[in-house]
Amino acid sequence: MKVNENKIYNPEIECMDRKDILDIQSQRLKETVAHVYKNVPMYRQRMDEAGVKPEDIKSVDDLHLLPFTNKTDLRDEFPYGLLAVDKSEIVRIQGSSGTTGKPIVSGYTQNDVDVWTEMVARSLTAAGAGKDDIVQVTYGYGLFTGGLGAHQGASAVGAMVIPMSSGNTQRQLMMMHDLGATMLCCTPSYAIFLGESLKELGYDPKEFKLKSGCFGAEPWTEEMREKLEGLFDINAYNIYGLTEIAGPGVAFECPSKCGMHVNEDHVIAEIVDPKTGEVLPYGETGELVFTTITKTGMPMIRYRTHDICTLDATPCSCGRTHVRMSRITGRTDDMLIIRGVNVFPSQIEEVLLRISGVSPHYMLVVDRVNSTDRLEVQVELTDEIFSDKVSDIEKIQNAITEQIKSVVGIAAKVKLVPPKTIPRSEGKAKRIIDNRDLTK
Ligand code: AMP
Ligand code: ZN
Repeated sequence: MKVNENKIYNPEIECMDRKDILDIQSQRLKETVAHVYKNVPMYRQRMDEAGVKPEDIKSVDDLHLLPFTNKTDLRDEFPYGLLAVDKSEIVRIQGSSGTTGKPIVSGYTQNDVDVWTEMVARSLTAAGAGKDDIVQVTYGYGLFTGGLGAHQGASAVGAMVIPMSSGNTQRQLMMMHDLGATMLCCTPSYAIFLGESLKELGYDPKEFKLKSGCFGAEPWTEEMREKLEGLFDINAYNIYGLTEIAGPGVAFECPSKCGMHVNEDHVIAEIVDPKTGEVLPYGETGELVFTTITKTGMPMIRYRTHDICTLDATPCSCGRTHVRMSRITGRTDDMLIIRGVNVFPSQIEEVLLRISGVSPHYMLVVDRVNSTDRLEVQVELTDEIFSDKVSDIEKIQNAITEQIKSVVGIAAKVKLVPPKTIPRSEGKAKRIIDNRDLTK
C-alpha cells in the first residue's frame, strides 16, 4: 500500500488544545442559540416550553438543557420554516432522500458553503490530497450532498477535479485510467464494484495511479476496507456526514485509521441514550447528536442523527485533537441505506397503498451481491387479483417497480406472492430482512 504522509489542512485548529476547543465551542454555541431564538419560531417555542432562555446557555456544559430536534421537524417546517436568515441570504439548497412525502432540505448561506468546503478540504487533506492530485468524484451530483461536497473540498485543496457523478462503470474506469486519477470519492460499495470490474474489463490494476479514496454515505466495515485497499493498492478512508448538518466531511479519518475526527470548531457531538435522551460519557455506545455552531442559514440544535456509534477524545497519533467517532454500527430507526440512498419502509408502504390489487403486507429483503446492494420487495396479492390473469399481475408488478423508482429513487426487484404468505407478527411487524453484515 502506498505510504500516506500526515498532512493537515488547518493545523492551528485541528491540533488545538482541547481546552481551547471547548472555549471556542462555548462561545459559538451561545451565539448560535441567541441567533435561532431570535429568528426561528420553532426554536423559540421549544425553548420557551422547556423553560430555557438563551442567557441560560453559558458554556458547552449547558448544552443538555436545550431540546432535541429530529427529522420530523425538518419535514414539518419544509421548506423554509427553519431558516434563521432572510431567504435572500441563502445561496444553495441541498437535500436528502429517505422520508415519505417531502424531502429533507437544508438552506446554506455563503458562510455555510464555505464552512462545509473547509470540512471536506480537511478530510481530503487527511487522505493525502493536495495541489498535484487528480480527484475523481463519483458521488452523485445534485441535491445529494456527496458530489458537490467532495467537488468543493477538492477544489479548495487545489486538486484537479473530475466531476464524473455516479454510474457508468466502464466510463468511470476509463477516465480514472486515462486521466490518471490519484484519489477516488464515492460510496465504499461502489468503489469495490469498480475495483472488481477492473480485471473483467481488461485493465491491469498496476496501470492506475490511484493512491487513496474517501468513502462514505453508507455504513461499511474493516473487511471492506481491506478489500478496497487490496483491489486498488490504495489507502481507503472513511468520511461521514449528513445533509442536515452540512454534508460529507462532518467527520473524517486520518492516516491513523482509528475513528473519524469530528470538526469540533463547527459542530458539537454528543452521544445520548436513544430511549431516554440522557447524555452518555465518551466511550459508551449510543445515538449521535449534533449541534452546529457556525452554520447561519439553518442551524441545527441537538439534532438526533439516529446513527449509533461511540466517541473517543483520547489523543490520536496524527496530532489532531478533535474527538473521534467510531464507525456507524446501526440505526435507532428503521432507515436502510441501499446503494447510498436512504430508504424507509414507510416510503415503500406509501407506494403499495396507492396500488390496487396488493395488500399492505410486505417484506423488504436486502442482500449484497458482488458488492452491490439488492433490494427485493415482496408484496402479497389480494385474493381477488390472485386468481386473475397473468397479464394483470405483470401490470401490477411493473407499476410497483416504477413507483418505487420514482418515490424512493432506487431500482428494486418486486416479487408478488400469494395472499397470506408473508409471516404475520403479533407485535410490531417485521418488515426488513437485511442479509448484509455491516457490523464488522
Ligand atoms: P444524507 O443526508 O442523505 O447524506 O444521509 C446521511 C446519513 O448517511 C447519515 O445519517 C448516516 O446514516 C449515513 N452515512 C453517511 N456517511 C456514513 C459513513 N461514513 N458511515 C456510515 N453511515 C454514513
Ligand atoms: Zn488522527
